[in-house]
Amino acid sequence: MASVDIRNVRKSFGKTDVLKGISIDVDDGQFVVLVGPSGCGKSTLLRMIAGLETISGGDIKVGDDLMNAVPPKERDIAMVFQNYALYPHMTVAQNMGFSLKLKKIPKAEIRKKVEQAAEILGLTPLLERRPAQLSGGQRQRVAMGRAIVRDPKVFLFDEPLSNLDAKLRVQMRTEIKSLHQRLRTTMLYVTHDQIEALTMADVIVLMNEGRIEQAGPPLELYDLPANMFVAGFIGSPA
Ligand code: ADP
Ligand code: MG
Repeated sequence: MASVDIRNVRKSFGKTDVLKGISIDVDDGQFVVLVGPSGCGKSTLLRMIAGLETISGGDIKVGDDLMNAVPPKERDIAMVFQNYALYPHMTVAQNMGFSLKLKKIPKAEIRKKVEQAAEILGLTPLLERRPAQLSGGQRQRVAMGRAIVRDPKVFLFDEPLSNLDAKLRVQMRTEIKSLHQRLRTTMLYVTHDQIEALTMADVIVLMNEGRIEQAGPPLELYDLPANMFVAGFIGSPA
């Protein structure tokens, strides 16, 4: 587990400034939700934390370690995407263990990690199935399993539920939160859905056009919105 310290981070693509100085302190073990309208820079920020985008300015630290120039593979960070491509020809167990296999971890150890993750996610009876034989929710759980087996210091989620139907989305919110309760790992969770943010977050960071409008516990944003944008975004119907 580790804290994440995002300090005055900026990102430009050519002449376009996409992130204009973002600072966030994520405590060890916190569940922080980044929320904001489409295009405000949420994915870009997560990708920078994961090392998938370069940093145009500022610093990102995980624990005491400056991440700015650390290659993605050397960061103890796991990312769960919306379009979690599972390998169709592999079983659930093989999908979950694949990154460990690449790291040349012994088979027995991989099996143990996969079984532990499967137990947490309720996937134990499905370990020998292939992705085509799974429901959307089960596939999403496998995608989370792939992240869990790596024992990351930080989990990053980028709109992991947006491909699921409304009912399943509500169920998966609860599952991700209980995963957090159980692992107590630091999690940064991106969504454009203010209800998801209000129900899941320890701390909400509301972004707009590359800046933070307000950050704080859900009730604070709800009861004491800092400006009209916050009030409009948080208070709009689902
Ligand atoms: P969000 O995830 O909040 O919807 P993004 O981080 O995906 O927003 O994108 C923020 C802005 O950055 C958008 O205007 C998007 O078009 C732009 N952007 C993202 N990636 C690139 C890129 N590789 N090149 C140019 N512009 C990009
Ligand atoms: Mg995005």
